[in-house]
Parts: sequence; C-alpha cells; structure tokens
Amino acid sequence: MADTHSALVQGAGKNAFKQLRLDAVSRQFGGANALDKLSLTIERGEFIALLGPSGCGKSTALNCMAGLLPLTGGSIWLDEQRIDTLPPEKRGFGMVFQNYALFPHLSVSRNVGFGLKMRGVAAGEIDRRVAAALDTVQLQAHAHKLPGQLSGGQQQRVAIARAIVIEPPLILMDEPLSNLDAKLRIEMRSEIRRIHRAQGCSTVYVTHDQDEALAMADRVVVMKLGVVQQVGTPQQVFARPATLDIARFMGYRNVLPVRLVQSSGVGVTLEGPHGVRLEGSAMQPLTSGAAMVAIRPDEIVIGEGPNAFAGTVETAEYGGREWLLQVRTAFDDLLFVRTAQVAAPGDRIMLTAPADRVLVYAPERQEA
Ligand code: ATP
Repeated sequence: MADTHSALVQGAGKNAFKQLRLDAVSRQFGGANALDKLSLTIERGEFIALLGPSGCGKSTALNCMAGLLPLTGGSIWLDEQRIDTLPPEKRGFGMVFQNYALFPHLSVSRNVGFGLKMRGVAAGEIDRRVAAALDTVQLQAHAHKLPGQLSGGQQQRVAIARAIVIEPPLILMDEPLSNLDAKLRIEMRSEIRRIHRAQGCSTVYVTHDQDEALAMADRVVVMKLGVVQQVGTPQQVFARPATLDIARFMGYRNVLPVRLVQSSGVGVTLEGPHGVRLEGSAMQPLTSGAAMVAIRPDEIVIGEGPNAFAGTVETAEYGGREWLLQVRTAFDDLLFVRTAQVAAPGDRIMLTAPADRVLVYAPERQEA
C-alpha cells in the first residue's frame, strides 16, 4: 500500500507547480460582475477556502480556474505559463462537485479509472493508479460495487478518487460536503485534509460554511458580491475580521452602535447609550463620533472586571454544554451571551468583555 501512495505523491510531483496566480480575474454575466478583479497567489501544497454567502462569486471563481468559464478580464498563470486560454483538459486539474456526478452503471473502479481510459492510458497502468487512488480514499474493499450500493460519504470519496487519479497539481472542490448529514460532513473534513496532504497537491475549496473553511484551510478568502473582502489564515479571519460584514459572518452576533470618544492607536474608548463605557480595539481607521462594535456571544463573560456593565437576563436557552442568554443592558439591543454558568430570566448580572475582543468598525454606510 505504501508503494501505491508514494506513486500518487510522485505523480503529483511530476505535474507540480510552484504557484498558481490569478491576476485581476473577472467574469461578467450580462454586464453584471459575478467576479471582480480577483487576484490571488496559491502556493504549491496550500489548501485555500473560498468562503462567502450564496451568490458571492465562489463557484464562478472556481469555474474560471477550471476552464469551465471563460474570463471577461484578467489572466491565470501556472508559474510562467498562462493557462486561462487553455481548455479544461489541458489544465489537468481535478474537480469534485456537490452532486458526486458518478456513472451509476459503472463500478467504483471503472468510475475512478474512466478519466484515465479517456486519456488512452494503458490498462495495466489504469489498474495500478485506480488501486492507489482507492487506497488513498480507503475504499479498496468497495472497488467492485456500484455507486448506488454506497453511502453518500463513500460516493463522495469515489468522486475524490476520480479527481486524484489523474494526479492533478490542483484539485478544485465546489461544496463537496453539502449533500451529507452533519456528522459525516465533520468526518469528511479531516478525510479531505488527509487526502490533500497525501497527494502533496494544492486544493481550492468552495464553501459557504465558515466552520468548514476555518477547520480545513491554510488560508481563507472571504468574498462578497464578487469582490474579495479579506485573505488570511483561519485565525486571522476569525479573530480580526476586516469588516463588520465579515465579523457578522464569523459569528460576531452582537453588533451595536456606539460613539468613539477617545482613541490611542488601536485601543479606543467607546460610549454607548445611557453613558455605558467600553474599551475596544479599532479594526479600521476611525474618526471620533459614530462607530459600531462587534462582540461574539462567547466572549462576553458573566462577572466583574474591566469593561463591566450591568444587565438583566430576559431569556435563557439551554444548549447542552452552555446557555444562550439574551440580556437587557444599557445598549438598546438585547445582548447575546453564551456561557457555561447557569442563569435564569430575571437574574441581574454583571457582564465583561476583554478590550481586545470588543472589535470596533466604522459605521456601515462608510464601509466600501
Ligand atoms: P452559491 O453558493 O449559491 O453557489 P456562489 O457564491 O458560488 O453561490 P456564483 O454561482 O459564482 O455564486 O454566482 C455569482 C453571481 O453570478 C450570482 O449573482 C449569480 O446569479 C451570477 N451567475 C452565476 N452564473 C451565472 C450564469 N450562468 N448566468 C448568469 N448569471 C450567473
């Protein structure tokens, strides 16, 4: 088995590149920008997630890389070679879609070997490479079954084997887990990461699920309305969302209007309604006056401390490990608080939030 694995890794090495570079890649449909000047350099071996809500241009970006959609502007480069003018089969990238797209009447082995057969690869070589790919996705025991005899997760693994068997330097995946149930989705995340590492190739993975992007990617590209909003490691995008929109998308559920009263670099002093004072961290250049804060429910702590303010619990929803509270405070909107401490409606509590987790943004109308 080790031999077949190393054969695949060597295969990926054979087609390897140093960088895939997207230079101001744009795609319009009927005059509207589905993708606007996407510039991104993907290093060999990187796992990139394209993340954003429905319609933000993720699939358009992926299809432009695959060669399934011609660009209306910009260029794509594999090291020194311009590739956006090449048809999909000349690019040689592997693709995995949401709806597996397997041939129902062909066995697992024949599904996986289909692309090699089309490329005129000799039968013995097909057998060897199909065995190696099935070994990587751990489906050797199912080689002779039909797709209909497999679970959804197994079928998606056949689709992945079919993509990696051509030894692509880059694998493009479009929401490959969205047809699977929640438990299987989580199992398949680490499975896809494992396969990515075993292959030694690069992966671009489209998803609208921020947990999936954070768990899987080396770098996350956050998109909105066809435009890249932020590129960073999962930790950067999660802890330091570049805009209020990204913060909301990352689970910063408390978004409140405040006034900025004092600023010393990143550290800022804020005033909420009824004179409530908060220390926060500026995420954007700010001027005095109107501003917005974003705080995650799990970063507000019950207790005394710096940045403390009083509140009354209005609702307490039990979630197993913790409670989700809605708390009436000096702020006009109810505050969401996620806590392991027991609390009940009517309880008077003190809340605190560390200043570096109270993120401060310009008011929305000033955002690009
Ligand atoms: P989803 O997660 O729903 O697939 P997405 O982020 O992948 O969304 P795209 O499918 O890339 O988004 O679509 C981006 C925009 O381009 C959308 O406004 C969509 O309506 C539009 N669009 C995509 N394909 C076409 C097409 N073939 N013709 C016209 N408009 C299109």
